[in-house]
Amino acid sequence: MSRTMHVVSVSSGKDSLATLLIALENCPANSIRAIFCDTGNEHEEVYTYLDYLEATLGIKINRLKADFTRQLAAKRMFIARDTRTGRDRKGRKLRWSNKAKRRALAVMYPSGNPFLDLCMWKGRFPSRKAQFCTEELKRNMAVEYQLELMEAGHRVISWQGVRRDESEARRNAKLYERVGGGLWIFRPIAAWTAQQVFDFARARGIKPNPLYLQNMGRVGCMPCINCRKEELREIAARWPHHLERIADWEWIVSMCSKRGFSTFFADSHTARDRREVFADLNVWARVEWSKTSRGGKQFNLLDEVENDGTGGCSSSYGLCEQSDTTTQAEALVRANFGHEAQIYGVAA
Ligand code: SF4
Repeated sequence: MSRTMHVVSVSSGKDSLATLLIALENCPANSIRAIFCDTGNEHEEVYTYLDYLEATLGIKINRLKADFTRQLAAKRMFIARDTRTGRDRKGRKLRWSNKAKRRALAVMYPSGNPFLDLCMWKGRFPSRKAQFCTEELKRNMAVEYQLELMEAGHRVISWQGVRRDESEARRNAKLYERVGGGLWIFRPIAAWTAQQVFDFARARGIKPNPLYLQNMGRVGCMPCINCRKEELREIAARWPHHLERIADWEWIVSMCSKRGFSTFFADSHTARDRREVFADLNVWARVEWSKTSRGGKQFNLLDEVENDGTGGCSSSYGLCEQSDTTTQAEALVRANFGHEAQIYGVAA
């Protein structure tokens, strides 16, 4: 029997929580489908928090994970057979050299981690300008889930926790949109502020993701490719094991890159020697930079992120949370969770 299904994307952040709570208060429980797109680059607190939400709200949150096994097999085949002649627009040979082939074919096997497998397939990490992580790890998974419901004959309303005051890119987010083919988009908190979002959950006795209480202006990937300087410093101090994982990934993805290197944080200095670029931009070099104050060694490659001021993805889908500045985040935490903030060491 055809009916309307409400699909709520839950990131474990404050905005998607408020959106989920609104859905639960306004729609029949059996018409709500909560989904979480697991990137494989998540903080362990995220999984714990999802368990807490399931237990407290009495719901199931469907965990979706992308699989790139097929793409990696095709890429291996492509690399092994590559005999192209000619050069690209920058004058570089198109063909994979035998050395690069050997390097890539030695490691390019599915790891089961969606983020790493995606980067191996692409031969690089995502960047602000090529943010394929949101698309491949989150948007496509959510769309696939919704299409399956539509193919089963349901109308689908996709609930998205997007706020207009999050960033310029989301300034014109509509409250309601008809996509077609039985799919609608609903953004119930489009006009809300971050404070209203916190207030809404607090009034219902639901705790925020503990990461907010540990100086994180956003929750989601740990780290996000768009993470701010102060967030990176905080991550290095609190959870260095996440950066050790990124360092391992940089080595693996570099092996899968035709150029022979790739760094987690964006690089645009391709004219420089690749070893020099890697030395400047590998995750540990960026951590050292994050500890500098004004006047410390500057890395221009973060300029595009810092000057933009949003510190997050520009996707209008709202699948990746935008980053509040540390000052904003701390002010919100102090105002809303003074006691809990003290427990986690944030001055309240
Ligand atoms: S934009 Fe950041 S949070 Fe979103 S998928 Fe990419 S790395 Fe993860």
